[in-house]
Amino acid sequence: MIESRSPQRPDDVVVTAPDMGRDEVAAAVRTARQAALAWTNVPAPARARALEGVAGAIEAAAAELSDLMVREVGKPLDEARAEMVRTVAIWRYYAQQGLDPDGATYPSADGRSLLMHRRRPHGVAGLITPWNFPAAIPSWKSAPALACGNAAVLKPAPEATAMALRLAGCAAPHLPEGLLQVVTGEAGTGQALVGLADVVSFTGSVAAGRAVARAATEQGVPVQAEMGGQNASIVLPDADLEQAAAVVAGAAMGYAGQKCTATSRAVVVGDPAPFTEALVAAVEALPVGDPAEPANVSGPVITAEARSVVLGAVQEARSRGGRVLAGGAPAEPGWTVLPTLVDGLDPGDRLAQEEVFGPLCVVLPAQDADGAVSIANGVRYGLVTSIFTSDLDRALELMGRVDTGMVKVNAPTSGVDFYAPFGGEKASSLGPREQGKAARHFYTWTQTITLAPSGRGDRPPSAGGTSPRG
Ligand code: NAD
Repeated sequence: MIESRSPQRPDDVVVTAPDMGRDEVAAAVRTARQAALAWTNVPAPARARALEGVAGAIEAAAAELSDLMVREVGKPLDEARAEMVRTVAIWRYYAQQGLDPDGATYPSADGRSLLMHRRRPHGVAGLITPWNFPAAIPSWKSAPALACGNAAVLKPAPEATAMALRLAGCAAPHLPEGLLQVVTGEAGTGQALVGLADVVSFTGSVAAGRAVARAATEQGVPVQAEMGGQNASIVLPDADLEQAAAVVAGAAMGYAGQKCTATSRAVVVGDPAPFTEALVAAVEALPVGDPAEPANVSGPVITAEARSVVLGAVQEARSRGGRVLAGGAPAEPGWTVLPTLVDGLDPGDRLAQEEVFGPLCVVLPAQDADGAVSIANGVRYGLVTSIFTSDLDRALELMGRVDTGMVKVNAPTSGVDFYAPFGGEKASSLGPREQGKAARHFYTWTQTITLAPSGRGDRPPSAGGTSPRG
């Protein structure tokens, strides 16, 4: 069995569920494959109505689901509520996207045949998700998979099991039986799913993502993996420093920094003192505590181990000459770490290179904008960069030089628009983008079709067919 516990009240066991092995996963995939065969032939408008039904059911349960999210993964209440609003919008968006053109026609070589392509579903989508966006990520994978005519088997992170089960419970009355299933368990359950699915979408850490991508590729199954980040915010001297500090503080520390898009490095061009001072003030002003209290923007990290990792990283950084400017200590109750700022480290320091996944940001000075870009790019990750400046010409130039999948100007690194392509470069991503219109390409394959005349009663094309004037 696995269990998920509240990170704020670790004695509170939110749910226990089976740690499913290969046989149970195989049974789920078999049922899903049967359901997919029928679902593929359901007309797209009817599929759209079903997904609309799912959206409505999740919307009706949104208050309960946001409370569950706060309890199970410690997401601050306002963010949890916003995630539920986004989740409903995601289902509605993909319900409609299912009605988009599913192919195109081309001029044929003989002028008489019909040459076209259409997109067809893969079958069973195996979806492996992390715990940190326990409603949005399972939804932005399963909604497009279903909209395109696939079935979906979701393997959520053990820490977010209750959320996944509850979401699937909302969807069930609106979908054919077996079309969307949850398999619960640890990494082994995910491995079994990768071995059986027809298309695999993963979000999580780099190590797990690469293992998933390797296994799927070996089986010749299309795969995408969205993984970690080590995201920089570049602050130019002409930026509104107070404003930039407030935005960076929120992006670094909100939800205890547990977002792939969190800011982990503030790269300050020129004299770092004024911005650093503003950033320390902004970080210290953030309300931290029980995520169920609407005022709080940061609560606990997900587990006791995660807290040890964050505190250990701070300790190590200290031993290498890092100065802790704010936080750096645990707080009770729950697995809380106070929002932590560190400076005095080299850009090549481990803390400025690797993802720690906690409320931790390193301040790094840069002599000029060129130096800042090379620091920002000088990590193995490539998810998102933000640039703070009031000179938009400068912003345009620098945007073209950062090597991350997403770049933002005067905006936080965190935050995702579900209708735009989302993903990173370098170690942050493997395979095609997800979300927006990109999702449709991933969850379908292309069939090119030539429809030629039978040859019986062969006759020349009619004048009406060739003259634009008719
Ligand atoms: P994780 O990699 O530990 O787990 C993710 C999922 O993969 C879980 O369901 C887990 O059980 C499963 N898993 C682990 N090893 C596996 C294997 N070998 N085969 C199959 N499945 C396996 O990640 P996590 O701790 O749940 O989430 C945090 C990580 O997710 C961070 O690195 C964060 O940056 C990343 N993340 C990335 C994005 C993005 O879109 N780029 C979004 C959110 C989180």
